[in-house]
Amino acid sequence: MIQVDGLSKYYGEHAAIKGVSFTINSGEVVGFLGLNGAGKTTTLKVLGCVLLPTSGRVIVDGFDVTRDPHEIRKRIGYLPDTPPVYDEMTVGEYLAFVAKLRGVAVANVASFVADAEKKTAITDKHDDAISTLSHGYRQRVGLAQALVHKPKLLILDEPTGGLDPVQIVEMREVIKGLKGEHTVLVSSHILGEISQICDRYLVVQGGELIAQGTEAELSDKLGSGGPIEIDCIGTAAPVIELLKKLDGVIDITLIKLDGQNVSLRIDAKSDLRPQLVKALVQADIGVLRVDRAAHRLENIFLKLTHGKDA
Ligand code: ATP
Repeated sequence: MIQVDGLSKYYGEHAAIKGVSFTINSGEVVGFLGLNGAGKTTTLKVLGCVLLPTSGRVIVDGFDVTRDPHEIRKRIGYLPDTPPVYDEMTVGEYLAFVAKLRGVAVANVASFVADAEKKTAITDKHDDAISTLSHGYRQRVGLAQALVHKPKLLILDEPTGGLDPVQIVEMREVIKGLKGEHTVLVSSHILGEISQICDRYLVVQGGELIAQGTEAELSDKLGSGGPIEIDCIGTAAPVIELLKKLDGVIDITLIKLDGQNVSLRIDAKSDLRPQLVKALVQADIGVLRVDRAAHRLENIFLKLTHGKDA
């Protein structure tokens, strides 16, 4: 669906993207991760035919962004970081307007609008003026305009930006629901959100692609893995004494004491989670939580971009 070879984009002298290459297959939901200024929006704008590349080759669904942008625009839906909505229109009027602009046959406009409203859970807002909508609903209308013409590819630039926690969960569910019908490339710097939406990730930093793969593949690239966290029922000293004796344990740090519960961070040579749990259970110590920090996307991301643990 997307083939990018050696893409660079300069703003004057400033290189926002430097020789980025990647491929996205049809049907994938791919996360585009990067800190502020990493080059996410610039890359998405090139894919969305909003900006021309300075150099490199970018093919979307078989068409070149420099030669056939009109063909590409028919096949994609693009949600920029600020939803392109018109306050004075109702949701229904706006989506019908966009559908017509994108070449949907007049006879199909009403059903395409209804479908987009259903997918983004805004059917009950059909007759509401966009000016009266909350930020979360405006984002959903932005997503609805991106998919109203049923494009093969959706490019979503920070769709969860500025949403409250409830709206984030709702938007995540909406995006999950698009899988199967669309290929999706979604950018974010809020990693907890994107980790629950995507099959695979591209990580950019300073305009360069520094890693790509599934969450597990990115984690494997980093080697032995990170510290293990354990919450259990007991007092700190005996639990620490017990776990210290295990082969492969390098260091144990007390994170928190909370009534009868203790939280520990264990640095080990390898993934010792089974051995740690076995030792605790055999000592009749209740285990409340075991987690390996390196498998969390935040941690992977920080290690890749800063070389340190989250
Ligand atoms: P954010 O998460 O903050 O939106 P981003 O990863 O999307 O960041 P871009 O917006 O693509 O990053 O910006 C990449 C680099 O290009 C940054 O250094 C930015 O300052 C610069 N840049 C972006 N747009 C322009 C522009 N129109 N003119 C000049 N420089 C720009």
